[in-house]
Amino acid sequence: MKITFFGTSHGAPGPDRYCQSMFIETENSSYIVDAGAPVMECLLRGGYDLKKLKGVFITHMHSDHVDYLFGLLTLPSWYRKEMDFDVYLPEQAGIDAITSYIQMGFGNADYFPNDRVRLHLIESREVYQDDEMKVTAFPTDHMKISKRPCYGYLMEAEGKKLYISGDLDGQKIDYPEFLNEEAVDAFVVECAHFPAERLIEKLRSCRAKCVMPIHVWRLEKYDILKQAEKELPFQMEYPSDGDCFEIL
Ligand SMILES: [Zn+2]
Ligand SMILES: [Zn+2]
Repeated sequence: MKITFFGTSHGAPGPDRYCQSMFIETENSSYIVDAGAPVMECLLRGGYDLKKLKGVFITHMHSDHVDYLFGLLTLPSWYRKEMDFDVYLPEQAGIDAITSYIQMGFGNADYFPNDRVRLHLIESREVYQDDEMKVTAFPTDHMKISKRPCYGYLMEAEGKKLYISGDLDGQKIDYPEFLNEEAVDAFVVECAHFPAERLIEKLRSCRAKCVMPIHVWRLEKYDILKQAEKELPFQMEYPSDGDCFEIL
C-alpha cells in the first residue's frame, strides 16, 4: 500500500500547499481520502490510471476537505466515462447539496448521480470493503459545536494498516484509543487544532510504527515536532504535497 499526499495544508491553502487530500494505492486499485486539493487535476498530471479509482472517503464537510469533490464527480459523469467509483460522505445534507450543484451544471437531473459515480451516506463503522481494501470509520468530535459528524479512517490492505485521523477535537485530540493498543503501520495525524506540545504528549503512548503530521498550522509547529521526535517511540515523517510513501 502506498500513500501520496495531494494536499497537506490546514484550513487554507498556501503557495506550496493545497488543502487536505490523500491518494492511496494498492496493486490493482486506488482510493482517495478527502478532496481539499484539486484531485482530478492531480490524478491527470500524475498519470494515474483513472480506471483504478474505487473509493473516495470524505472525513467531514469543512471546505478544506471537500471543495474539489465537485470536479472529481462531474468530469466522470460525462467525459471520463472509464471511471467507476463509490463516494462516502458523512452527511445527507452534503450529498443533497453536491447533487443539486452538479445537476444545475448538467441541466438534467438524470445525469447525476449515475451508475458509475455513486454517493453513499456513512451509516455504520464498516464503511467499505472490496478484494483489496477495507475501510473502517471512527468518529471524532471535531465539529461537535455545530453537531455535525467527522470521521477518521482505518485503511487495511495488503497486510498493512494505515490510520488517517481526520480533523480532531481541539481539547481531546480524540484519535481512537486502539492506536495506543495496536501497532498500525502508519498514522497520518492532523496538527492544526491544538498545540504541538499537547500532541507530542498524547503521542507518547501511541503504538504506530510511523507517524506523519499533516494539516500543520502554524508552521512553527514543525520545529516543535522535529525537536521532540528523538524522544518518541516511533519514526516521524513530514509529508509535503506530492510526497509518496510506501507503507512498510
Ligand atoms: Zn481541516
Ligand atoms: Zn475541519
